[in-house]
Amino acid sequence: MPVNVISTENMTYSYNGVEAINDISFAVKKGDYLGIVGPNGSGKSTLVKNILGILPPQKGFVYLFGQPLSEFRQWNKIGYLPQKLSSLNSHFPGTVYEIAGLGLWDQNSENLDTALNLMGVGHLSSRLIGELSYGEQQRVMLARALVSRPELLILDEPTTALDPETRDIFYALTEELNRLQDTTIVLVTHDIGVIGKYARQLLYLDKKTVFTGTFEDFCNSAAMTGLFGPMSQHIICHQHNGRGNNK
Ligand code: ADP
Repeated sequence: MPVNVISTENMTYSYNGVEAINDISFAVKKGDYLGIVGPNGSGKSTLVKNILGILPPQKGFVYLFGQPLSEFRQWNKIGYLPQKLSSLNSHFPGTVYEIAGLGLWDQNSENLDTALNLMGVGHLSSRLIGELSYGEQQRVMLARALVSRPELLILDEPTTALDPETRDIFYALTEELNRLQDTTIVLVTHDIGVIGKYARQLLYLDKKTVFTGTFEDFCNSAAMTGLFGPMSQHIICHQHNGRGNNK
């Protein structure tokens, strides 16, 4: 049996004694496109940070590519876009090219140019990162997450500062990576419309797991209709009939 790219068992995490996530277990297989959804404050970012060890898990287990998190070292397999770009100090004296290059593990600068051009910031390569607008900085960070062609891409609310056109380009790119290169994608967002359009598996969080499974199961679930109401369920499932889900 192929190993899971991510699996978690009974993960619980508290900030100062207050639980942010409770008993989360799920698995992501190679080539999956998982959407993690839930209202603001439902624990999505906490979950992702636990998976990557940015917050050390307190209870439960995380495995990456079949290895326990504590033993995992192959970080070049993973591209991560954090929700907040707070790590980017506006006075940081690095250029766009240097910052995006931090995502590069094999020194293939051709990939770097391609990634920057794809995100429409190639012409800004020699500018200082701090001089760019927030939207431009986010595009640079997307290029950085993509540049080493990771096997697993984890994107936490990736498009908040993007204009609609760049957002569509970006989502189409994730779809292409998933379909053509079998890149495993975990996309975190509170936008259920987007998630229905691109993801094939769904993890609905509200501190606990509200739903985990395929969109098909979600859309056919009477329990979910009861929970969300037919209207919200329709929004999620209707969009699902669009492109990107016919794998
Ligand atoms: P989401 O990503 O779904 O918006 P978060 O994982 O960011 O949710 O937050 C889950 C809960 O944990 C929220 O109640 C939030 O206020 C709390 N929380 C998040 N980060 C911290 C922190 N650093 N310290 C204390 N509480 C936090």
